[in-house]
Amino acid sequence: MTDVPLSERHGQGRGCVITRRACFCASHRYWLPELSSDENAACFGLCALSPGHGHNYELIVSMAGELNADGMVLNLSEVKHAIRSEVTEQLDFRFLNDVWPEFDLSNSEGCLPTTEALARIIWDRLIPHLPLVAIRLYEHQGLWADYLGDAMDAYLTIRTHFAAAHRLARAELSKEENERIYGKCARPHGHGHNYLLDVTVRGEVNPRTGMVCDLVALQNLVNDLVVEPFDHTFLNKDVSHFASCVPTAENIALHISDCLVTPIREIGAHLHKVRLQESPNNAAEVYAEAPKLESMPEALQAVAAN
Ligand SMILES: [Zn+2]
Ligand SMILES: [Zn+2]
Repeated sequence: MTDVPLSERHGQGRGCVITRRACFCASHRYWLPELSSDENAACFGLCALSPGHGHNYELIVSMAGELNADGMVLNLSEVKHAIRSEVTEQLDFRFLNDVWPEFDLSNSEGCLPTTEALARIIWDRLIPHLPLVAIRLYEHQGLWADYLGDAMDAYLTIRTHFAAAHRLARAELSKEENERIYGKCARPHGHGHNYLLDVTVRGEVNPRTGMVCDLVALQNLVNDLVVEPFDHTFLNKDVSHFASCVPTAENIALHISDCLVTPIREIGAHLHKVRLQESPNNAAEVYAEAPKLESMPEALQAVAAN
């Protein structure tokens, strides 16, 4: 085999990550029997209302392996079958609290069917069948969880947006130098963007609440520390940090990360990543800790040497 050039072997033996998407609709309710009605309402807000509410979930299954002689990591029909029989057929149109024993709250081992708990349990159910490297589960386009097979560690991302104006120019440079560096973005009266902001936190899934942190507390932090002070402002003038720091997408993402890292630790999670999308054509990502998401999975590193 080794005397045949790689390019003539359908990539056989070389590593690749493949993904498969699947959707299901399901309902759930956040309600712990050991808490009173008032305590459940205080902890879980509208999610505690009877009889529950539903989501259109979107599941992205990432798998890695070496290509076979047919040029595939796995036959997609086998992947589809495993995801359907182990996950979507069991969950679709069901009440999650009732469907899997992991969510049986009458049992002290049971946990609430949150997005991050569901991602972790979907991993457990698929790993005997598929060479998983990551599970991503969208509850909706503004909230998703990632699980990479790392014990109880999971990632939760919330997406929000704000609109703001800025001007890219450094005060110590001439008009010509600023125009050379920043182009149209240096024009004196600024211009604006509708920014999309993704904040990803990492933490241990609580074995009872199924949460890496209090979601409402996280949403409030992002809203109070970023969205409210930034939305409908001229960043250079209205946000004091940008009086002396050019508000490029990179600098805005870094500043958001710096604003959030300690408050997120205080609600029991770790800020992992901030992603700021300025336009459909550009985005900046800042990691507040060693990157794991979207980095090369260990399973792929093993086959990358081939
Ligand atoms: Zn929900
Ligand atoms: Zn701009």
